[in-house]
Amino acid sequence: MRLIAPFDPWCSKICTCPSKYSLSAYTGCSHRCLYCYITSYVRDPFNARPKKDFIRRLTREMPKVERDIPIAIASSSDPYPPCEEELELTRAKLKILVSWSAKILLITHSNLVGRDIDILKSARAAVGITITTLDSELAARLEPSAPSPDKRLNTLAELNDAGIMCGARIDPIIPGINSDEKHLGELVNSLAKAGVKHVTASTYKAKPDSYRRLANAFPDHERYLRFHYWTMGESMAGSRYLTSEMRLKLIKGVKQLAEARGISFASCREGLRDYESSASCDSSHLIPNVS
Ligand code: SF4
Repeated sequence: MRLIAPFDPWCSKICTCPSKYSLSAYTGCSHRCLYCYITSYVRDPFNARPKKDFIRRLTREMPKVERDIPIAIASSSDPYPPCEEELELTRAKLKILVSWSAKILLITHSNLVGRDIDILKSARAAVGITITTLDSELAARLEPSAPSPDKRLNTLAELNDAGIMCGARIDPIIPGINSDEKHLGELVNSLAKAGVKHVTASTYKAKPDSYRRLANAFPDHERYLRFHYWTMGESMAGSRYLTSEMRLKLIKGVKQLAEARGISFASCREGLRDYESSASCDSSHLIPNVS
């Protein structure tokens, strides 16, 4: 199986991602986010392990890559699981991609991306960091093994200071858990201060396994979530969605917050045509055309 493959949105008809490759040095992800969807697709999902013979295979595949199509790192694992600190596979991979002048889109929940600023500075690269809340206690419940939101925010500022284009993902917004308007306003303010150029927001899409994890971790919210997802919500693209009115309210709110601060905005897989954007939904428009 090839390492560098065309991005596969798992047959989603409402995915608005531009054409890109997907590449990961790891299978699975150790950040253990409750809302993670890879548990529906990947065996032993919360155990990040390096792909066999990764560097040799990557070196062999690079000549076949079209240089102007971005390589997204990664879509079904995080490029910076804790073991990356020691293994440095993502770091080695970045060096290879830079030597081919590849367009790189790094998406992570980790501040460890800051370690690779020296490589990213000379790359055709943009970085997207996911921050779902500023509340570190809530983040520790939602994303038990991911670095704290403070660390991620600091890294966004460091990347921005180094001249690397950054976007942020507020993804997912889970009603009643991290959807408070005032809190989202503070989050977008902090992202603006860190120099983020683009925000993508997305509401939580429920699948039975991720929903079970959320319901177990937030028993006080279970009835509320059940009502909004399973009683009132709708089925779309293999998941349970909130009603379009609820999604619209949440997405419109973040769009207004971002645009009021001069930050471009896009939603992700909401099926809300009016809220799709000329900016990309994955921050790939931030990748410089020349290094
Ligand atoms: S960082 Fe991404 S891939 Fe990893 S557990 Fe969290 S949502 Fe899943």
